[in-house]
Amino acid sequence: MSRDDKFKKVISHAKEYGFVFQSSEIYDGLSAVYDYGQNGTDLKNNIKDYWLKSMVQLNDNIVNIDSAILMHPKIWKASGHVDAFNDPLIDNKDSKKRYRADVLVEEHISKIENKIHKEISKAKKRFGDGFDLEQFSTTNPRVLGYTKKIKEISKKFNEALEKDDLKNLKKLIEELEIACPVSGSKNWTDVKQFNLMFGTKLGASADSATDLYLRPETAQGIFVNFLNVQKTSRLKIPFGIAQIGKAFRNEIVARQFIFRMREFEQMEMQYFIKPGTQQKWYSKWKENRLAWHLSLGMGKENYRFHDHDKLAHYADAACDIEFNFPFGFKELEGIHSRTDFDLSSHEKFSSKKLKYFDPKSNESYTPFVLETSIGLDRMFLAVFSKALCEEKLKDGTERIVLKIPKILAPKKIAVLPLLKKDSLPELSKKIKEEFKWEFNTIYDEKDAIGRRYRRQDALGTPYCLTVDHQSLKDGTITIRDRDSMKQERMKVEEIKLKIRAELDIKSWLNS
Ligand code: ATP
Repeated sequence: MSRDDKFKKVISHAKEYGFVFQSSEIYDGLSAVYDYGQNGTDLKNNIKDYWLKSMVQLNDNIVNIDSAILMHPKIWKASGHVDAFNDPLIDNKDSKKRYRADVLVEEHISKIENKIHKEISKAKKRFGDGFDLEQFSTTNPRVLGYTKKIKEISKKFNEALEKDDLKNLKKLIEELEIACPVSGSKNWTDVKQFNLMFGTKLGASADSATDLYLRPETAQGIFVNFLNVQKTSRLKIPFGIAQIGKAFRNEIVARQFIFRMREFEQMEMQYFIKPGTQQKWYSKWKENRLAWHLSLGMGKENYRFHDHDKLAHYADAACDIEFNFPFGFKELEGIHSRTDFDLSSHEKFSSKKLKYFDPKSNESYTPFVLETSIGLDRMFLAVFSKALCEEKLKDGTERIVLKIPKILAPKKIAVLPLLKKDSLPELSKKIKEEFKWEFNTIYDEKDAIGRRYRRQDALGTPYCLTVDHQSLKDGTITIRDRDSMKQERMKVEEIKLKIRAELDIKSWLNS
């Protein structure tokens, strides 16, 4: 299956099974805005919970806050967003379509990278077990040519980005003969900077209203509350403040489903540290965050770090954790060493002291900050797209199954009476009542049992409990595992113990 086909399947499955809907669909939708359905909301909440537990509940020195979306407009001046939160945009004069100039170049580079991957897989097939990747990549003339090309383009690209040189960025697009995917033409406008913040107004009358912005990141709500939290919690440096909340960006190109939305959610944590210790904490949080991702068992090979060459105005080191989405490796989470930029800047703009008094050394200083910032919706897409599988079964039939990490699955258990008669529904409902206190449990009696299993597979429900005539006699029920499809007969209490053990967050996070 091609990457495009896989991605289309992900989107249609998300809609068909109540995970993600286009926002305002009956009015033909609102571009790059999405709603989460009944199952999507459960999955999203479970991801939040997994993040919050590991980040806050398990760390004595990290607390959670919930700051407002609307904030004083000076905050965005201080943070640099008014002046620097821009993306370079370019229009194609024939199709009138708008693109991010940097993304056009990145996609061009990706295409060359794909050519390298194709050469490698062809060679792998040809040479079989004797294939040596290192040797092939450093000697094959075609691969060497592609690699050289990428290096040359990247050099020019990074230079243009570092200097905000929009003229050279356009020149590069022309040199590379990048064409508009819609019109096929190379008739481009100049590159312009475009600010991504959404503006809004506060106040009743037009003349007295104040211009505000919808926050483009949750981080600033943490910085401006830094002293409030520190003083009321009495936390000592190093300590962290976490927050999950909505952020808004007027993205220029928004064509990748929930990967790039105009309204989305972030899970951020700002870790306040002593100046000079940032390298140590940067490495530590890179390690911690990767371990968190790997604990979900979605394959080590699907993650990689990407170190930033061009650093944001506030950072002295930064990297992304990239995930292998259906459209290739892309940013899932950012880890940034933000220095004291934000606190110092807020101190200047607000004229209020934002210093930390260190009781040990008896000195006051502006803490440095280490940030981990993950998009909840991107995490959702990572989990959902990796989970969606089409499997050929031994009997020749096929099934579609969502192998979502069990701890994140929207519904954990489906209780199914084998038949809709002979008191089986009554006993099943009783069992459902018992499980629902501890696990998200549903009851389903419609259709033949095989179809019900398929339905639960497609929803990602890890356990189906089937109640049959033997259950009436000896109280045992059959538990069917979503992934192995293995069925075992057990007592209700044994099943509880098994599920409890398999969904135990301690085992997941320590795996
Ligand atoms: P990108 O380079 O993809 O635009 P970014 O570097 O601007 O992302 P950050 O500002 O570091 O992103 O935000 C932190 C996280 O928030 C990202 O790693 C991503 O997971 C998420 N995120 C950012 N923009 C969006 C968006 N438009 N839609 C969904 N998630 C987003």
